[in-house]
Amino acid sequence: MLQLPHQPLQVAPVPSQRAPAREDQAGPWHSEAVCRRDEAGLFFAPSKEPTAARLSREVAAKQVCAGCPVMVECREHALVQPEPYGVWGGLTAAERRVVLARRRRRDIELAAAPAEHIAAAG
Ligand code: SF4
Repeated sequence: MLQLPHQPLQVAPVPSQRAPAREDQAGPWHSEAVCRRDEAGLFFAPSKEPTAARLSREVAAKQVCAGCPVMVECREHALVQPEPYGVWGGLTAAERRVVLARRRRRDIELAAAPAEHIAAAG
């Protein structure tokens, strides 16, 4: 079982800090996660967070993600799980839902397309 680089929100109240990954369960990318200790509380929303504060916090979290060496792995993890809350891999939960919807639509279109059409497009 992979240990997450930060603690996903399971129940309210939202944790203000991400839990550090346990070394014995750390996956290959978790140990390099810049957010292993989210001391600023950037990655998950506190309860009843005003919209302006949320947007500002998410921008700050994304800036941290932009400098993270495992952003791609983290993002894919959050998409595959899927992680319903928080900023992961530089994407908010809403942005991940858009990516997942696009992937589902693409998969449906590929499944419906005739094989020769796919070969011509690829
Ligand atoms: S990409 Fe962002 S959320 Fe993911 S491990 Fe890095 S800092 Fe944390």
